[in-house]
Amino acid sequence: MKKKDEPNLSAKNCVTQYNTIKVRLYPNQEQKELFQKTFGCCRYIWNQMLADHERFYLETDAHFIPTPAKYKKGAPFLKEVDHQALTQEYNKLSQAFRNFFRNPKAFGYPNFKRKKEDRDTFSACNQISGNSATIYITKDAVRMTKAGLVKAKFPCRPRSGWKLTRITVERSKTGKYFGYLLFSCVVHKPKPIQPIKERTIGLKYSLSHFYVADNGFTADPPLWLRRSQEKLSQMQQRLCRMKPGSNNYQEMVQKYRLLHEHIANQRRDFLHKESCRIANEWDAVCVRDDSLTDISQELTGGDVFNSGFGRFREMLGYKLERRGKQLLLVDRYLPTTRICSVCGHETQKLAPKTKRWICPVCGTEHEKDKNAAVNIKNQGFHQSSLNLGSSFAS
Ligand SMILES: [Zn+2]
Repeated sequence: MKKKDEPNLSAKNCVTQYNTIKVRLYPNQEQKELFQKTFGCCRYIWNQMLADHERFYLETDAHFIPTPAKYKKGAPFLKEVDHQALTQEYNKLSQAFRNFFRNPKAFGYPNFKRKKEDRDTFSACNQISGNSATIYITKDAVRMTKAGLVKAKFPCRPRSGWKLTRITVERSKTGKYFGYLLFSCVVHKPKPIQPIKERTIGLKYSLSHFYVADNGFTADPPLWLRRSQEKLSQMQQRLCRMKPGSNNYQEMVQKYRLLHEHIANQRRDFLHKESCRIANEWDAVCVRDDSLTDISQELTGGDVFNSGFGRFREMLGYKLERRGKQLLLVDRYLPTTRICSVCGHETQKLAPKTKRWICPVCGTEHEKDKNAAVNIKNQGFHQSSLNLGSSFAS
């Protein structure tokens, strides 16, 4: 439907691609107050809709979410904020329920939002009609409904053909405002690349090395990231000894939050660079379809979520797809660490701390993670050739 106004590109071999540009926003006092109100209204409407959904369900056994417009009479303050932001809450709640019904284990039932725990954020879609749009960017600002022109600093500009479709405004814990501008563009589908073994890499998630590849390459998180993390834990300890509520304490909390934000940026940067490098260099990437919740329960002492392997896998997925390449997920229950990649012998369970082991059948000495990466690659490649066979048969 969006492709109507792209006459040059035939719909058949095109896909819509999404790109986000994160900009720092500098709202004035009035705009800050409006944003604050919008955050509050979004939480309010979410909670109202969720409560009514529960009530309807108990009474009628049917799932129904009332639209935000219904609440405006009872809560006139909702009229002060962008209606689009409220509509987005409705969409998000509907999506949360769809996810929950499809996969209750992974998504869980939608929760009520509390000011203390939830992020201050709202989204609004761009309404385009003819030459006018509700949201657009200028040289140094973002124009939004109700707020008007909000000063902004752009790290880069959208490319030609990118259409602004949505903005998400967020106030971070450190008090900074950010805008996430979502752009869509229609591009030619990349030519699918059929992987060959020499151009395929297998990656094993590793707690100490981030990952180990089947060729023995490891990607250690950069030293500066670890240094920042050490600094963070020192601050944590100092905070524990301070008197909560005192001025020093408040100052320290702010410093802590700033460093935390800084580390999150450093980490994202590392993940982007590393995933780009791999997606450029290889035609297919095999990883285990691990549930990262399982890993973190198995291994104590390290923080899987902090290392961001899940996010990394996600990035790899879409970056490869854009290049016509594949991310091959290998069954998570396959005992990749215990199988000898040389002769295929399956040995007994290895202790989590084991680094090396010798295959009792063929005598090969294995580095545990590297051997697992080889198995992951072999399995992933095997799967992809099976898929190819079936697609030819049909
Ligand atoms: Zn062996």
